[in-house]
Amino acid sequence: MNVLVVEDDERIASFLAKGLRSEGYGATVARTGDEAVAAAAAMHDGLDLVLLDLGLPGKDGLEVLDVLRRRHRTTPIIIVTARDTVHDKVTGLDRGATDYVTKPFSFDELLARIRAALRTSEQAGSAELAVADLRLDILTKVAWRAGRRIDLAPREWALLEFFMRNPDQILSRTQILDHVWEYGFDPGSNIVDVYVGYLRRKLNSPGLVPLLQTVRGAGYRLMPPGAR
Ligand code: CA
Repeated sequence: MNVLVVEDDERIASFLAKGLRSEGYGATVARTGDEAVAAAAAMHDGLDLVLLDLGLPGKDGLEVLDVLRRRHRTTPIIIVTARDTVHDKVTGLDRGATDYVTKPFSFDELLARIRAALRTSEQAGSAELAVADLRLDILTKVAWRAGRRIDLAPREWALLEFFMRNPDQILSRTQILDHVWEYGFDPGSNIVDVYVGYLRRKLNSPGLVPLLQTVRGAGYRLMPPGAR
């Protein structure tokens, strides 16, 4: 379980990271909003939970929340902040935070809230992934688009799941090869392009908006039609 700690206070950041590591979590620290967005993007679906301070230099915590929520729909994000008014809490939760903890906090309570958030996200995440009119049933490994069942071969499934877990993000051929095939797979191979082609044929039918975009020179992106 990898936790992204977004905190500009050196002392609190190091206390959180050490505490999390001693409980068996992976911890990555970001000290500004921009660092947080970059770190989350680099972690892709390896990101399991975010602890988010609101008072940050540069991009404010709420703006970071908006960006992370768009890109990581189901990742639990717990706000950890000194802002303790009801208005602050309502705003944070309404903008997509999973939970809200005010400083000073008890580390044991924070750990319990982390466990609770992860339990909920695992239950939700284990059942279904959805982007636009496309749904993946993780348990039965069946995909549905606009109500039509789509049968996928195992690699096609892995590729589509990778896209679905990283919607709106450009995934390079190398990232896809490393994730869906294996590290060190011949980078000159066109297997990614071939499989994206298979997926496109299976996902598209007349009247439906194509979801898989080619980003010239960069890779591929799963784009919900509303995000264009
Ligand atoms: Ca702060």
